[in-house]
Amino acid sequence: MSVKTISLDFSTRGNADIIDITDQVTASIGETGLENGIVTVFCPSSTSGITTIEHENGCFSDLRRLFDEIIDPRREYAHNARWGDGNGHSHVRAALLGASLTVPFVSGRLTLGTWQQIIYIDFDTHPRRRQLVVQVIGE
Ligand code: ZN
Repeated sequence: MSVKTISLDFSTRGNADIIDITDQVTASIGETGLENGIVTVFCPSSTSGITTIEHENGCFSDLRRLFDEIIDPRREYAHNARWGDGNGHSHVRAALLGASLTVPFVSGRLTLGTWQQIIYIDFDTHPRRRQLVVQVIGE
């Protein structure tokens, strides 16, 4: 068994920008040369998160609407009152979504469903450079 760690770098537009990272995660597994195991994608960030969804604009729109409904940026946030950075909703959204995802892979292929992709969502209020940790454990 071996453990390999790779980083993914990219830019986002912020404000619930959704980025499909499935191809990059698959490529990361390819780089390791490992055939079977698990891959964990982790975002070292308190204003973004990772999940899976069908890569389809309707799904993206529905997911963004859900976050607008349940964690409305126009509400008052204690974080904003304390720090004045205006991204209290970004932190709460990120906490709810979660910072990592683990997916098994078999024969070098992710075991995702046919319509299931890995997406990264940046909830912060402005464009950012992001770096994700991809750790592959396998043989
Ligand atoms: Zn903040």
